[in-house]
Amino acid sequence: MEKFYRCKELCLRSPTVRSCHNLGVDQNEKNGSAGYPGLDELRDAERRYRTVIEQSPLSVHVFAPDGRSLLANSSWNELWNLQEGEEPEGTSIFEDAQIRATGLLPYIEQAMGESPVTPPPLLYDPARTGRGGEQRWLQAFVYPVRDDGGSVREVTLIIEDVTERKALEDRLAYQAFHDPLTGLPNRALLLDRLEQALKRVERRSDAGNVALLFTDLDNFKYVNDSLGHKAGDNLLVKVAGRIASCLRPEDTVARLGGDEFVVLLEGVTDVAEATAVAERIARELEAPFALNGQEVFVTTSTGIVLGGPGKAEDLLRDADVAMYRSKGAGKDRHEVYEVSMRAQASERLGLEGDLRRAVERGAEEFVLRYQPEVDVETGRTVGVEALVRWRHPKRGLMSPAEFVPLAEDTGLIVPIGRRVLEEACRQARGLRGRSNGGSEGRRPIMYVNLSTRQFWEPGLVEDISQILATTGVEPGELALEITESAVMNDAAAAVVALSSLKGLGVELAIDDFGTGYSSMSYLKRFPVDHLKIDRSFVSGLGAGAGEDEVIAAGMVSLAHALGLRVIAEGVETEGQLARLREMGCEVAQGYYFSEPLDAEALEAWLAAGAVH
Ligand code: C2E
Ligand code: CA
Ligand code: CA
Repeated sequence: MEKFYRCKELCLRSPTVRSCHNLGVDQNEKNGSAGYPGLDELRDAERRYRTVIEQSPLSVHVFAPDGRSLLANSSWNELWNLQEGEEPEGTSIFEDAQIRATGLLPYIEQAMGESPVTPPPLLYDPARTGRGGEQRWLQAFVYPVRDDGGSVREVTLIIEDVTERKALEDRLAYQAFHDPLTGLPNRALLLDRLEQALKRVERRSDAGNVALLFTDLDNFKYVNDSLGHKAGDNLLVKVAGRIASCLRPEDTVARLGGDEFVVLLEGVTDVAEATAVAERIARELEAPFALNGQEVFVTTSTGIVLGGPGKAEDLLRDADVAMYRSKGAGKDRHEVYEVSMRAQASERLGLEGDLRRAVERGAEEFVLRYQPEVDVETGRTVGVEALVRWRHPKRGLMSPAEFVPLAEDTGLIVPIGRRVLEEACRQARGLRGRSNGGSEGRRPIMYVNLSTRQFWEPGLVEDISQILATTGVEPGELALEITESAVMNDAAAAVVALSSLKGLGVELAIDDFGTGYSSMSYLKRFPVDHLKIDRSFVSGLGAGAGEDEVIAAGMVSLAHALGLRVIAEGVETEGQLARLREMGCEVAQGYYFSEPLDAEALEAWLAAGAVH
């Protein structure tokens, strides 16, 4: 191109031109000097190159070493918004206010010196030159043309307006490092910042330490399932906002995906400082969230780890491990990472594999025990609660505490729960006609626990109605226990879910009553039949007046006011039973009567018709 400008300026405008190095043609040699016979080709070439330059979307400007403009195409004039008569030719580029405002001049000077240079994209703000218009990103290319001695003869400056491309690149870069829903940094950006932070700690003794808080919502899936994904997304955005409000500007909160958030704190002196932040966040999340006109409560499980030498990835994994630990320890809490947790985490992983395989093999490793529920007045067995156990091939019989939380987290509770329901109904059917001596001809009701996840599973009602049909159990012979926290978490949706279960004709019980947060107005609207008072309130009874007495008595009268029957769990002593009887509690269950029994022992128990 540069050759062309030379031609245009030096050859074509001159009627005396004799040769053109550009075309590689020496007209003197080829055609002789008279009549300039090569001129036509030269003009063709001029038109060709002029068209290329003129039509180019790139802005092209050629100037002499002193800055005097030699040529500018129309893109150039458009770029600078030059009006008719404002053409730069003849003026000096070094004096041009707009060019100066780009910050390009030092690069041009550098290029004209010894060292070649490609300037970075420069932000040009027309406001700085008193002209209107939007800010633009300009990418410039500077090509000095030198003579044989190396001196600059002229300079070609090409400018591309890269504003749109830059915006797109910025957007892509942003997307690569941010979560699109909440706008928070994503895992990649978190790891990058964590790495930088760890390096700072290593370099400077006064940088303090780094802490990670790995936070997972405890009940997000239920919000998603009951209120829909849009409400779920909405909740995540609100949670993100509340977490961020607890932090300093220099802290980072990232969303790793799903309902997992990670907070990165820098300049931390000790673990107490990190714990305090975790507590502040938990408090901030305590107030209910308004979603679809309903109040939703959120609790979180958090793992905390203090940085040490090591890789960012490792630290994040340790925080994750500690988070799982707080899930296992009952959720709605935080745990600080300890080295021993890593082994537990890998054990958990192993157990998860075993659990999955057990389910794939038909869930036959899950067996039931049955605990009698006794009428406080008559001493007769009016119900039995089915309690699951896992007959692990290597570990032996495992209690639900050891695998139900894991089954909940992984969703495996759904097939396991279905198996429990089938087995309990088969058992209930088998009890019929055989062993009703203890309950005046009435068969005891079979109580089956539903996990939170099962309760919100869309196919539950169909599953149960199918199980009732195939086992031949009457709906009235089955009671489903749902924990207080499962129904209260989203009470409005729970009313609907409970009603459709009730529509099957089964009995419903609220389990672990007193351990969660209950809204009285909803309790009234739930179509339930029984309240099971949690063991923790029963254990303090009979040992003298105390808080438990007052609370238990309050729960009994509340249940009665709502027309519900009361079942007290975990009755272990005569004294507890006596107090419950005085309070008017109808049914009691616990070691005082019997531990959970296997099917055979249950039948013997019922056949004996024991009255307690
Ligand atoms: P839960 O529903 O509150 O069940 C009562 C638990 O208390 C049972 O523990 C029972 O063995 C125990 N228990 C009964 N009487 C006494 C007593 O007098 N003293 C004491 N200290 N404990 C007593 P288990 O069988 O280990 O079950 C624990 C929890 O696991 C259950 O609590 C329930 O939440 C869950 N679970 C059990 N079976 C199932 C099931 O089939 N599905 C689901 N989703 N959860 C289940
Ligand atoms: Ca229960
Ligand atoms: Ca219970």
